Amino acid sequence: MPGNTVVVLGGGTGGIVAAHRLRRQLAADDRVVVVERDPVYRFAPSFLWVLTGERRPEQISVDLGQLRRRGIELVEAEARAIDTDARRVETSNGPIAYDRLVVALGAELAPELLPGFADAALDVYTLDGAVRTGRALEGFEGGRVVVLVSRLPYKCPAAPYETALLTEALLRKRALRDHSTVDVFTPEPLPMPTAGPAMGEAVRGILESRGIGFHPEHSVERIEPGTRELVIASGERVPFDLLLGIPPHRAPVLVRESALAGETGFVPVDPATLATPVEGVFAIGDVSSIPLAGGKFLPKAGVFAHGQAEVVAKRIAAELAGRTSSAAFDGKGACFLEMGDGVAAYASGAFYAEEGPRMRLRRPGRHWHLGKVAFERYWLWRWFR
Ligand SMILES: Cc1cc2nc3c(=O)[nH]c(=O)nc-3n(C[C@H](O)[C@H](O)[C@H](O)COP(=O)(O)OP(=O)(O)OC[C@H]3O[C@@H](n4cnc5c(N)ncnc54)[C@H](O)[C@@H]3O)c2cc1C
Repeated sequence: MPGNTVVVLGGGTGGIVAAHRLRRQLAADDRVVVVERDPVYRFAPSFLWVLTGERRPEQISVDLGQLRRRGIELVEAEARAIDTDARRVETSNGPIAYDRLVVALGAELAPELLPGFADAALDVYTLDGAVRTGRALEGFEGGRVVVLVSRLPYKCPAAPYETALLTEALLRKRALRDHSTVDVFTPEPLPMPTAGPAMGEAVRGILESRGIGFHPEHSVERIEPGTRELVIASGERVPFDLLLGIPPHRAPVLVRESALAGETGFVPVDPATLATPVEGVFAIGDVSSIPLAGGKFLPKAGVFAHGQAEVVAKRIAAELAGRTSSAAFDGKGACFLEMGDGVAAYASGAFYAEEGPRMRLRRPGRHWHLGKVAFERYWLWRWFR
């Protein structure tokens, strides 16, 4: 009998880990096929160091073709449709049949959903955007810097706050701080609200101590590039000289159009197994949707995509070998909060706790910054050596 085919849609954080783990755990005649349209993997947690000039894009970009050296089949193609009845995905390279499917397509950035964003904002969520932001900051001579969270949900809940802190530090270093302001506008009630009120207040305190304005519960309706203003839903207008933006996110179109999509377009999954209601199909990482106690959703972050990929690989390998697996995702996660000046903080916590998610923020220090540098080096070495 021929082996099974496990298709992984998306070769980002979750897809890379899932494919490696599957290759190690499946039988030799089973195939692991990754469908990814972008030949290059870019390590997003370091984008903000590109913005500050501490990294060059090539230091955090890797050829995804290296997966082939590990016995993983890489199909460089656009995935176009998921046909769960026929157990097949349609791609720009033709159809691929699967026995098990792991959807790891991430969240799509959709700047066009906020009028004016594409013309007026520097998008700090892409590598090209981080390069452009770095250049803009280099040429900046002082003024009003606004960091904008366009819409909820967005990935990496710490990143807008890191953007503000790193920018503030950069302006100080360049002696521009006295005639500059840095403000964050967000629809959230607190920074990183899913992580619990203590975490939110701690981050708010850090922003305050650095003179960064925090403007919660501000939903921006549009941006006017001509007058360089945010127009808030309340009618308030906020002028800026430099706008660093987190664009709106949405589920990728083929997911929204598939039988897997929930109300928001993202894919509801079992919180422990990452199984979708459709047999043989799992969804991990940013494309998945996991409700938590208290009515919030598991944040979209690489740390979760990674942990979920490990669980899904174990479960699929066991299933295909006729065994059962008790592997379960526990909802635990951690992240660094870069603050500039070579200092970072570190937060960790359990998101599946019955009383609701709680994260603890450790005292900021140089060691956490060095920890993030080590993590970056390790991650790129671990999956691409
Ligand atoms: C600036 C920034 C900083 C961040 N910092 C951190 C951090 O410190 N810690 C942390 O945990 N997380 C961080 N994140 C978030 C983290 O990068 C994501 O949560 C993580 O990458 C999600 O993994 P994923 O596999 O779900 O999706 P992704 O890594 O986004 O991968 C999805 C892949 O699917 C591909 N794809 C999409 N549609 C198609 C299609 N139709 N056909 C073929 N391929 C397709 C995409 O090209 C992409 O490669 C950060 C993100 C940003 C932007």
